[in-house]
Amino acid sequence: AIAEALAPRAPIAPAATAAPLVQAVDVHKHFGAQHVLRGIDLEVRAGEVVVILGPSGSGKSTFLRCINHLETMDRGHIQVGGEQIGYALHGERLLRVSGRELARQRRRVGMVFQQFNLYPHMTALENVIEAPVGVHGVPREQARRQGLALLERVGLRDKADAFPAQLSGGQQQRVAIARALAIEPELILFDEPTSALDPELVGEVLATMRALADQGLTMIVVTHEIGFAREAADRVVFMDGGVVVESGPPDEVLGRPRHPRTQAFLSRFI
Ligand code: ADP
Ligand code: MG
Repeated sequence: AIAEALAPRAPIAPAATAAPLVQAVDVHKHFGAQHVLRGIDLEVRAGEVVVILGPSGSGKSTFLRCINHLETMDRGHIQVGGEQIGYALHGERLLRVSGRELARQRRRVGMVFQQFNLYPHMTALENVIEAPVGVHGVPREQARRQGLALLERVGLRDKADAFPAQLSGGQQQRVAIARALAIEPELILFDEPTSALDPELVGEVLATMRALADQGLTMIVVTHEIGFAREAADRVVFMDGGVVVESGPPDEVLGRPRHPRTQAFLSRFI
């Protein structure tokens, strides 16, 4: 199924009629007295690449973390593939699921963080197959085969036996991307995946992400890389102060931003 997920995207009918893969409605989140998310609505269809831009502190990471239930929201709901991660309907009532069921649900969503958080005592391949084998019960030999294919996909087949300390930051982040793919998610969330990298290593990670986007992976990417947004995004969302200020095709939001806050934010990058 990984091979299928990574196969070049076949021409598909316009997705306008298909149910969105991700549907966030009126998402609110407080930290103490601070109202961090103030009613986020977002729909992402299968195969779409959505880039979220916005100043530091605007709630981008918190929103991503709500999608896979690393944070609980206070109001609203987010469905991924028709189910709200962390919850299940029991009759009319939405109740929290067990840890085991949560692990099953989270397989829908991979995540790549700014800090790649690879296990330092494991090789690249061991990092990639840790969740499939350890959490999801995939037989080790099968996981190894898939893991090697994924490392090939991110251009690191020859680094399978290297430890993180032996890899550059860009290579480590590509391993982290392969690790996120290894659970065969329907959606991958990227939270500033290149922000911790030396400038000369950013390009290889963006190129890897670009290839995945071209292959039809559904992605929500928080980044300050405007060039990536322009070239790879189907849609750009600008967040500020816990709300979506503006969203649309990249040439509109980046080229002709309508909202003064979007204009002010983008003016820093020119
Ligand atoms: P962004 O990713 O856009 O920079 P974040 O979602 O990380 O924004 O943070 C939004 C706001 O929520 C910030 O003011 C931040 O300090 C606050 N915040 C985030 N996580 C926590 C937390 N675990 N506890 C308290 N405040 C938090
Ligand atoms: Mg953040």
